[in-house]
Parts: sequence; C-alpha cells; structure tokens
Amino acid sequence: MQWQCNRNSQPDNLEKAERENEPEGEEQPGMASSAAIDGVAAAALRSVLQRVQQAAEKSARKAQDIRVVAVSKTKPVSLLRQVYEAGHRCFGENYVQEIVEKVPQLPEDIEWHFIGNLQSNKVKPLLTGVPNLAMVESVDDEKIANRLDHVVGSIGRKPLKVLIQVNTSGEESKFGVEPSGCVELAKYVTSGCPNLEFCGLMTIGMLDYTSTPENFKTLANCRTEVCKALGIPEEQCELSMGMSSDFELAIEMGSTNVRIGSTIFGPREYPKKQSN
Ligand SMILES: *Cc1c(COP(=O)(O)O)cnc(C)c1O
Repeated sequence: MQWQCNRNSQPDNLEKAERENEPEGEEQPGMASSAAIDGVAAAALRSVLQRVQQAAEKSARKAQDIRVVAVSKTKPVSLLRQVYEAGHRCFGENYVQEIVEKVPQLPEDIEWHFIGNLQSNKVKPLLTGVPNLAMVESVDDEKIANRLDHVVGSIGRKPLKVLIQVNTSGEESKFGVEPSGCVELAKYVTSGCPNLEFCGLMTIGMLDYTSTPENFKTLANCRTEVCKALGIPEEQCELSMGMSSDFELAIEMGSTNVRIGSTIFGPREYPKKQSN
C-alpha cells in the first residue's frame, strides 16, 4: 500500500531513553557507557520526550504516534552522537552539504529527515550521500517531486517518503505550496511519482520560523481536504508541525512529527536563514 508510513518503525524514544537510566537496562548494540550519555543534549532529549508524552496524554494520544525529529543543523557530529547514544534515531537537517558531510561519520541506523528547501541540482547528492534518508519533508512543487522521483528510480533505492510543505503563513514566500494548491500537488505526487510515497503535510508556520495556532489549524484543514480528495483516512496522512517553542501545542492540535532543534542541542551557531 502506497500510503502506509509507519511511525512505529522507529525505536520507542521515550522507553529507550528511560531504560538507559537503569543500570541493568536492556543492552543496546553500540551503546556507550551510561556515563558518556549523561551529557547536556542527552538530558535535554529526555526532557523533550517527557514533554511530548505529557502533551500526547493531554489530548488522549499515544506518545509513540508522535515522531521527534532532532534537528541537528549547525551542530557537531559529537553532539549528535551523544543524542544517538541516548537512544534517539531520528535526526533532521536542512542543508544538503551539511547532511552529506555528517552521514558517513554516524551510524547507519539513523533515520534522516531532510527538512530544508531543496534545489533540483542538490537532489542527486542528497540521495546518494544519504542512503538512510527516511523522508524529505519539504516537497513544495511538481518540479522537485519529479526530480526526486527520477533520482530515486535511477539509483534504485526503495521508495522515498515525502511530505508536502505548505505555506500556512499567509505571507508571500517561495517556500511551501499555498493551502489552496496542496490537493493538486498531493494528487500529483501520488499518481505521477511512483518512486515517492506521499506521507502527509508539513509546515514551518510564519516566515520568521514562529507559528500560531492558525498555522496548525490551516495545516490540519489541508489534511482534511487532501484525504477527502485521495480517499484515504486522516490517520494515514501525517502532520509535521511544531518546533522548540510550540511543539506541545502542535501535538494537541494533531501533529504526528515535531521538529525540535535548539531545545535539544542548544542555540544554533549561526542565524536562521530562509534562503539557501
Ligand atoms: C531549524 C528548524 C527547526 C528546528 O527549530 P527549533 O526552533 O530550533 O526547534 C524545525 N524545522 C525546520 C524546517 C527547521 O529548519
């Protein structure tokens, strides 16, 4: 089935992180000693996972239905390794050059999410440099969908999971399809791109990387329309929304995928950019 995107395929973050606090916890292959995981980022991860759990409970959802993408852009590989060793497996990056440099230095069982604006000429380096790329969250037009579809087919990797990025800000932006265009693009990806697996919708929120409840509501409304048009249940269409400052609200509003950077890794070393 083309729609099935299993959020449970990743390790259960919270349980895993908690197990590591116990001296006689289950053995993890490649685990460092428990002293080594006691870093600031590992502690921050545990706290985030606890908050995710609480937010999920508040809205009668299960924490394992919400994926936490640890957004590691600008952060050194040593810090990613610390979070990996604390049990986390899902990481997000938004610059092609940066992700392809990091990937070979880190374990192969990481599930990488690409969350940045993607140019056509960077698709091949991304896909060949990241064999364990789990998802591209930022498909926002037919051209990039076509290019991804073509390259996935030509390198013979398994179908690539994608989300469609929606501009919910109401501001003019070259990133993200307008809400009124998301049905058409979702139809295009599902019917015209056999090597892509449409998994849902993503939004950043406002252009300054903050979000409002309206942004989340807009994305949820887009999902309703897309699911109606494609004839699929809403549970099979993900919502990637919520970042460090608002992930709990996003979860209460139905997010299945939160992208959390600075709360886990600390403030970034260079200012946030919207163009690259
Ligand atoms: C950087 C980034 C994030 C993480 O932002 P924080 O506020 O640091 O959690 C999430 N999503 C995207 C697309 C990003 O580029």
